[in-house]
Amino acid sequence: MSKREISSDVVVIGAGPAGSIAAASLAQKGYSVSIVEKTPFPRFVIGESLLPRCNELLSRNGMLDAVKNAGYMIKHGAAFEGNHKLEKYDFSENIGQTYGSSYQVKREEFDQLLLDEAVKFGANLYKETEVVGFDPESSKVMAIDKNGDKIEFQTKFTVDASGYGRVLPRLLDLDAPSELEIRDAVFTRIKEDIRPEDGTDGYIYIFIHGNNDGWIWTIPFSDGTTSVGVVCTNDYFNSYGLSNEEFFDKIISETPGAKERFSNAKKVVPVGKVDGYSANVKAMHGKNYCLVGNATEFLDPVFSSGVTLALESGDRAAMVIDKTLKGEDVDWNVEYVDYMMKGINVFREFVNAWYDGRLQKVFFAPFKQEKIKRSISSILGGYVWDDHNLFVKNPKDLLNAVIGQIEQAS
Ligand SMILES: Cc1cc2nc3c(=O)[nH]c(=O)nc-3n(C[C@H](O)[C@H](O)[C@H](O)COP(=O)(O)OP(=O)(O)OC[C@H]3O[C@@H](n4cnc5c(N)ncnc54)[C@H](O)[C@@H]3O)c2cc1C
Repeated sequence: MSKREISSDVVVIGAGPAGSIAAASLAQKGYSVSIVEKTPFPRFVIGESLLPRCNELLSRNGMLDAVKNAGYMIKHGAAFEGNHKLEKYDFSENIGQTYGSSYQVKREEFDQLLLDEAVKFGANLYKETEVVGFDPESSKVMAIDKNGDKIEFQTKFTVDASGYGRVLPRLLDLDAPSELEIRDAVFTRIKEDIRPEDGTDGYIYIFIHGNNDGWIWTIPFSDGTTSVGVVCTNDYFNSYGLSNEEFFDKIISETPGAKERFSNAKKVVPVGKVDGYSANVKAMHGKNYCLVGNATEFLDPVFSSGVTLALESGDRAAMVIDKTLKGEDVDWNVEYVDYMMKGINVFREFVNAWYDGRLQKVFFAPFKQEKIKRSISSILGGYVWDDHNLFVKNPKDLLNAVIGQIEQAS
């Protein structure tokens, strides 16, 4: 077993979207960047539906053209169906945002593409190499490559983008319990679903199961396959006493819109499951390090916000690291944490309102002011930092006010 020592301005742990965008941004700013990725690529990760805000972040970092040219299914909006009611949000009907669509992507392809871009911009990739230690005081990252050889990185700053690996939360005892209920997802990919013919074939469709007991995502890809997943509480899953596949089939058969759409569908991969996916941290930064993407807080998949927040945090962290390494006065709490929490908290309120049923009242109301609908469309497009949007300023009060108006009118 040998040991190598490498000096690098920045070490990025993990090559998901958060890591690749941070690495691409810092490499373009002239820093030496080492990306350390444990898993052989291409690798599967859950989370295939992007939001228009992603386009903006990718564009800012010179990565959008590669995504545009990859032939992904264009996602023009999101549709929600439950109790025989359907509500569609066209992302282009927003409140003045630049991008009115995004993409549905197989993450094994998309993440490889972003990583290739980061390497093209000059980041060094240490593939199939696992980070096993970090010392914030000496700013050293310890890793082991696939041959079992040790690598020690002497760095100025470390970005933990290890997603579900949660490397620094584990090593530095930063994990905190999520305040959200424990939910599971049971998912697969299918072919030959019956896609809508009204121009919404690229939309994500969310089918509400039962009395808001769960929901089903439908993410269509350009190769004709579709990602489908059932999300519900762990208790609800257990109450059926079925295997993952039996549960998946049963929920589809009990949910009218999904049953119809998947009446001819055949599974192309085995049914998988993730348990208790929500996570939180005690701190998003510390001496010589920060956390980005899913290594921080992960809320819930219902509004497909995960990759958007991963890209946003990777992009934002790179900007603050640049200032830090230049010796400028930086308040990480204000410039990174407060900024990220502003957007996360808008999504948090929408997630809470989805599960307690308030949002369905708004979605399925017979009438909504156009400005309200456009403002919601903008939030669903990932524009959760736009102060022109009243839902950004005070999501809870505005949602409750809109519900009050709807109830008065009915
Ligand atoms: C059920 C479900 C459905 C979802 N659906 C969506 C969706 O439709 N749209 C959406 O935007 N988001 C969705 N998400 C969220 C999405 O999965 C994540 O937010 C996103 O993958 C986070 O990206 P990331 O870059 O932070 O981490 P990841 O993509 O997880 O990448 C982290 C990388 O770090 C590497 N790594 C881990 N440990 C180590 C180590 N010790 N050393 C080196 N490398 C390491 C891993 O191998 C991995 O490649 C969903 C999540 C769930 C649970």
